[in-house]
Amino acid sequence: MSVKNVTVVGAGTMGNGIAHVIAQFGFSVTLHDMKDEFIRRGLNTIRANLDRQVKKNLITAEQKQQILSRICPATSLEQGVQDADIVIEAATEDKAIKQTIFRTLDAAAPQRAVLASNTSSISITEIAASTKRPEKVIGMHFMNPVPVMKLVEIIRGLATSSETLQTAIALAQALEKVPVEVQDYPGFIANRILLPMINEAIYCVMEGVATPEAIDTVMKLGMNHPMGPLALADFIGLDVCLSIMNVLHEGLGDSKYRPCPLLKKMVAAGHLGRKTHKGFYTYNS
Ligand code: NAD
Repeated sequence: MSVKNVTVVGAGTMGNGIAHVIAQFGFSVTLHDMKDEFIRRGLNTIRANLDRQVKKNLITAEQKQQILSRICPATSLEQGVQDADIVIEAATEDKAIKQTIFRTLDAAAPQRAVLASNTSSISITEIAASTKRPEKVIGMHFMNPVPVMKLVEIIRGLATSSETLQTAIALAQALEKVPVEVQDYPGFIANRILLPMINEAIYCVMEGVATPEAIDTVMKLGMNHPMGPLALADFIGLDVCLSIMNVLHEGLGDSKYRPCPLLKKMVAAGHLGRKTHKGFYTYNS
């Protein structure tokens, strides 16, 4: 199916990044969030990121205006999806919230529309089961920051059709991203491999194997990782890391995915990483 109109649900970190890239590549975007102020905040972030692209001579000031003019805000989800060929949901990572959104999308979006979720860890098959069109539901897991990162994991739920898969792959390619097809198992690929590595690094801190600085240095200089696992954990948010470890542990039922007690303790203390200015490192506000 050829895609012209895209609706993005949620104007937060990922939603505004996805809307930015989609508008940049010439599609019309409807950006939905629950309140006007949330959409305005998302649009302000897009504007600031476009300004950075203008400064770096990646786009012209005129192109910036054209990109912004392709994004239309919508506080009503029902109205925001009326012309959608594909909806990309990037709302808060909460199964109940996503299932409610998908029930509304199923009722309000055209029958042809593909319904995609940017979830990091919730089962696409379970999200699809809350609709009457599970064959049109798929995962499109963009990476943060969306305008910069090339990868999109394309997650095929149990009922996802080949046509839906092709639509998602074609859209990712049109955005000059690299789509990788993944089956629907906990953590998909990115988080299934990344999070146990981060968790193991936290065990090393807890056991006093080395300091966070030393652990990150080993992984940067020894493995050529651009960021050490503990600095990355602070960037992702330790609460998010814990919730993904819980998904892996519950979903795969193997004790090797048990979250490190130090990770649990830091989350309980509110030391969530960059967003609270304190995690494995301390950050100036
Ligand atoms: P965020 O908190 O920055 O933004 C979430 C947005 O969803 C908020 O603006 C919120 O108002 C909105 N929202 C909540 N409930 C809604 C509803 N019922 N209808 C419409 N909008 C609603 O979160 P985020 O980091 O952008 O994450 C969004 C999704 O992307 C999650 O599923 C997350 O797992 C996934 N993800 C996040 C990252 C990341 O690094 N942040 C990376 C990949 C995937």
